[in-house]
Amino acid sequence: MIPVSPLVGVALGAAAGLATWRLRLLSIVGSCIAAALGAVAMMAGIPWAMLLLAFFIPATALSRWRRRIKVQRTAGVLAEEPMRRASQVVANGGLFGAAAIAALGGVAEWPVVVAIGALAAAAADTWATEIGMGMGGAPWSLRSRTRVAPGTSGAVTLPGTVAMCLGAAWMGTSAALAGFDPAAAMAGAVGGVGGALGDTLLGATVQYRRWCPACERGTEREVHDCGTPTRGDGGWRFMSNDVVNVLSTLIGAAVAVGWHRAFA
Ligand SMILES: [Zn+2]
Repeated sequence: MIPVSPLVGVALGAAAGLATWRLRLLSIVGSCIAAALGAVAMMAGIPWAMLLLAFFIPATALSRWRRRIKVQRTAGVLAEEPMRRASQVVANGGLFGAAAIAALGGVAEWPVVVAIGALAAAAADTWATEIGMGMGGAPWSLRSRTRVAPGTSGAVTLPGTVAMCLGAAWMGTSAALAGFDPAAAMAGAVGGVGGALGDTLLGATVQYRRWCPACERGTEREVHDCGTPTRGDGGWRFMSNDVVNVLSTLIGAAVAVGWHRAFA
């Protein structure tokens, strides 16, 4: 690994964070957290920063792809537009950041496997969600076993499921090309699929659901876009989409470490 001085890492992280804010990709707090993530990634080494970019650039592009169509299709279902809030940055990148800190000054391989698995899970889930909403039609809910409104958690489409696998494979390939051990990259890609599947299962079971009594539609919003306050409709109250995403990265990391121990 090529060492980067902390000063250079902080400077480049801050520059990247500023760029995300200027390009209106993230809220200001989200940009600050992205800057911190970029800085610790740079300090952990160039491959770590490359891995973070390999996650962020396609995820951002995909969230903008067919944006208008997706906003129409998911009208009133999703809590907010994707990839904006600080909590989303933390939910997707927090475990990666912790692994990067754990890797500072060490030679242990597990932080690498954890980081790739966590980011691959976040990528797989993002690719599946964005491509599924953009071209998937009405998704099939694992919970109700019926077709549901696009954007509903715990529901799948064929294009979304293919995209999930591609997202995980992309992160594994990027990790190997960035200079990480290919076995760790492979384990990370497998973890990515595991994490995204976990995300879907949690979304179908325990994720908190809300219901708009006026429109008789499910939603993630506390106040529906029709103006009606929504009420709880099952799941656990604390299990927000962000909490599910954190758990998804944890599952991704755990599957990656398990795979790496068993096969590498
Ligand atoms: Zn409504």
